[in-house]
Amino acid sequence: MTRIDLHSHSTRSDGRETPREVFEQAALAKVDILALTDHDTTSGWAEAAETASRLGLGFVPGIEVTTRAETASKDGKPRGISVHMLAYLPDPNYEPLARELAATVLSRETRAQRIVELLSVDYDITWELVTNMLEEGATIGRPALADALIHLGHFENRAQAFDGPLDKHGPYYVATKTTDTLEAIQMIRAAGGVPIIAHPLGGVKGSLNRGDLPQAYFETMIEAGLAGFEVYHREVSEQAREWLLELAEQHDLIVTGSSDYHGIDGKPNRLGENSTEREMLDRILAQGSGTKAQI
Ligand code: AMP
Ligand code: FE
Ligand code: FE
Ligand code: ZN
Repeated sequence: MTRIDLHSHSTRSDGRETPREVFEQAALAKVDILALTDHDTTSGWAEAAETASRLGLGFVPGIEVTTRAETASKDGKPRGISVHMLAYLPDPNYEPLARELAATVLSRETRAQRIVELLSVDYDITWELVTNMLEEGATIGRPALADALIHLGHFENRAQAFDGPLDKHGPYYVATKTTDTLEAIQMIRAAGGVPIIAHPLGGVKGSLNRGDLPQAYFETMIEAGLAGFEVYHREVSEQAREWLLELAEQHDLIVTGSSDYHGIDGKPNRLGENSTEREMLDRILAQGSGTKAQI
């Protein structure tokens, strides 16, 4: 059986290993086909493609696009919820998408700088240290700040830093300004890509709870061109999975399973821990026309 894992990160964003190392790890983990889906960038694709062909693995080019869903909360106030949208096989040269990704990367940088400013009141972290530790041109995120705090001896691993000062609900948090989710879906389709929500209704702590997307919003995303859901992912609860599988069936959508690997010591997620059925990958390959997979 072919083991297919459609979500992984490298040092081009917040993974701890280079694209080459990620594919070498995939070979060791007996993954046959792997997608590299760094946050808001395609800069790892070339190295991934080259390594995959050297190792005899399949490679699916992807991006994990940072988006924001504008919804209304119970009291009617507008509310933004962060949604990670996997885009498989988009044309990396399609201008509207390329421009949007560049803007997101820039606002991630401004936002990370602001978080460092807030952190520096209580920790000896500096922007210089953060950028020195980050690979040139990599998409920055809170994991880079975690790495700096670990380097300074405040924490032993990223998880500890995320439970501490990098917590989304803590005093140092600043959100990234980014593309509206529905616009991102349309843009990914226009680029020939296949938009699939990463870890829908996820959150390590679980189920359909506070902070989750309103269920009605799913219908809106489907109307906008959403192709499917990453339902088999360690952060998607069983309750959410059941609901998503039913919705996928009703709308004839694609369902995938992936690891969301960030390197051996980046996150506990292991390559191949969840996988995607061949039939589902074939549907992605049939719908995607912006660039070619290497299968
Ligand atoms: P950001 O997009 O900058 O807000 O950072 C979110 C990223 O941090 C996600 O893509 C995750 O990969 C990573 N992340 C979230 N929680 C943890 C955690 N507990 N341990 C390690 N990485 C995490
Ligand atoms: Fe990440
Ligand atoms: Fe994500
Ligand atoms: Zn991811």
